[in-house]
Amino acid sequence: MQGSLFDSEDNTPSEERIALSAAEELAKLQETAKECRKCRLASTRRNVVVGEGNPRADMVIIGEAPGADEDASGRPFVGRSGQLLGKILQAVHFEREEVYICNILKCRPPGNRNPLQDEIFCCMPWLLRQLEIIKPEIILILGKVAANTILENNLSMGVMRGRLIRWKEFDCFVTYHPAALLRNPNWKRACWEDVQMMRRHYEKSSRRETLHKHEIER
Ligand code: SF4
Repeated sequence: MQGSLFDSEDNTPSEERIALSAAEELAKLQETAKECRKCRLASTRRNVVVGEGNPRADMVIIGEAPGADEDASGRPFVGRSGQLLGKILQAVHFEREEVYICNILKCRPPGNRNPLQDEIFCCMPWLLRQLEIIKPEIILILGKVAANTILENNLSMGVMRGRLIRWKEFDCFVTYHPAALLRNPNWKRACWEDVQMMRRHYEKSSRRETLHKHEIER
């Protein structure tokens, strides 16, 4: 039986209601996370950089941790890395507004040092809850630290990038962090190949979903 397009209590289309509730859930998470003091980084941060973007994004982009610009503004991927990420996304026909962008750590480690294990342990529940709310199809992981943390391995970038990796219910792609690309422009080509592969996969999955929906509605 085909489900009703409208909720019985009001006239808001169901899809829109799902998007609204995801936005509300994310807003609640944002407010709670801003008060988080679960690890030592609470004492050195200026802002908690929770994440931003489309609450129903098909793709979530996850980096390592906020840097100085992000800490100052409270927004993820601003400054030079953010500009480069914007260009990378545009090159494969994604607008920044249609995806969701965040990091494994929500507060800046002093001097941009790598996250410590206990900080990751304290902070990961925020990220897992974000993914639970947004329910993306694809995750683009930026950099080795974020990839090793999320995928729980110790593999090199050479092994992780350039292929589809299934983690939980998500299709993941790993590529270089934009900050690393700014330091090593030679890696841009590999990053370009990675995001193109991700785009092709995204198009295949969207088509599959459209066909599936079409079959259900017939
Ligand atoms: S890094 Fe994460 S766990 Fe630590 S204080 Fe910030 S939000 Fe909380």
